[in-house]
Amino acid sequence: MICKNCGAQTADNAAFCSKCGAPVQEQPQNGYYEPEYIPVRQPVTETAGSDATPIFVLGILSLALPALGGLICAIICRKKVKEYLANGGKLTGLAKVGNILSIVGLAVSIFTCVYITIYLFIVFAIYGTAFFTIMLGALSNSARY
Ligand SMILES: [Zn+2]
Repeated sequence: MICKNCGAQTADNAAFCSKCGAPVQEQPQNGYYEPEYIPVRQPVTETAGSDATPIFVLGILSLALPALGGLICAIICRKKVKEYLANGGKLTGLAKVGNILSIVGLAVSIFTCVYITIYLFIVFAIYGTAFFTIMLGALSNSARY
């Protein structure tokens, strides 16, 4: 059955459209539409805050982008999930996938950030020590002559 309000395909026995929430009736049963069966736009699912797409996109980015980029996307995604739930959104479909991706992305990003920090610290410690050793050696040599 096709929803008269938004054109989405709904289950044949469904009383309401699964996409927009409008009542779905193939034929008016009494020969006319009762007032509650007049297709009405449902504002509840139309609000921007309950759109799951940003959560899904940010969830993918939080995993796909390396280190700090992924961390930022994951944090924004967590914020979007909170807004989405506050606006009455349900964690199903894209929102559910995006939510899980952002949690995994957050963990991976924190791990890679810590790893890179430790790596850079060790590299700078080794090269720094080597640099100062060479400089001190050069200074003591030039002082000798
Ligand atoms: Zn609909």
